[in-house]
Amino acid sequence: MRSISTPSMDKRAQAGALYYCRINTIFVIMKKYLLIVMAFLALLTGCGKTPPRMVILGIDGWGSAYLDSLPMPNIRGLMAEGTYTFHKRSVMPSSSAINWASIFNGLPTQLHGFTKWNSKAPEFPVADIPDSGIPVTVFTLYRERYPEAKVEALYEWDGVKFALDTLAFDLQRKTLAEDATDSTTTEVIDLLLQDRPDLFYVHYDAVDHAGHAFGWGSPEYNEQVAVMDRNVGRILDAFKEAGMYDDTYFVLVSDHGGRKNKHGGPSVLELEAPFIIVGPGIKKGAELEGYMLQYDVAATLASVLGLPIPSYWRGRSVPVKD
Ligand SMILES: [Zn+2]
Repeated sequence: MRSISTPSMDKRAQAGALYYCRINTIFVIMKKYLLIVMAFLALLTGCGKTPPRMVILGIDGWGSAYLDSLPMPNIRGLMAEGTYTFHKRSVMPSSSAINWASIFNGLPTQLHGFTKWNSKAPEFPVADIPDSGIPVTVFTLYRERYPEAKVEALYEWDGVKFALDTLAFDLQRKTLAEDATDSTTTEVIDLLLQDRPDLFYVHYDAVDHAGHAFGWGSPEYNEQVAVMDRNVGRILDAFKEAGMYDDTYFVLVSDHGGRKNKHGGPSVLELEAPFIIVGPGIKKGAELEGYMLQYDVAATLASVLGLPIPSYWRGRSVPVKD
């Protein structure tokens, strides 16, 4: 039988093999690019990404107006290592639940509906409320973006929990004692080192209470700020010892200041309170220009944590990164 392998057939076979080879190469290249695109999308969505670690220290009633003459060595150390402002303005009225709500949910009073110092839920209908009945907070967004992350909170004042969206937390509870900054910090350090939460919030209340009892700017108030500063130092030292300091964002934030023995009014003494952030990629020793608004805190933290900022939030992310 005559072979069917003619020279012309060989050429055809060669051409076919070449064609197959090219197609195969194109598929290999396409597959490679597809993998790159998928990796990029995964990066964008945070899928498979280690959740960034953040520790937020909420210091109730820590007004900016009284801080210039106070040493606060640990807090000033953080300011030198990070970005800060003492000109963050509270929403009105300058009371606690109203302002903690804005700090976490990126909305002004008129939109989040917390109108009293101890509001437990919005007092009028609010748009974009999820099933929890609480406006979306930075904790809600973090939970959605990083489902496997550990989110925890401790608070001396349990009124703050209504502003957090507690459903976003794996653990959240009142501290063992109130106005006990030293023992609260011991609890905080134990929890941070044992559980290693990815996102953690602690609420300290003693500075506010010293203001109510003795007056904002009084020696007793200033002493309580010094106690707070010492405890900030304890947390930072514990993180440094555990080798967890460098890859953690630390945030210090307060809801309002005070005037004489109270707050809630429109004076600058009551309205202005600090915001400080330190961590990977955060500008060092940078003071923010102009005024930061209370609801800018949520947007700024969301931005740092790689979370999408809801279109209906009114806060804007302030420039804290290089
Ligand atoms: Zn108060």
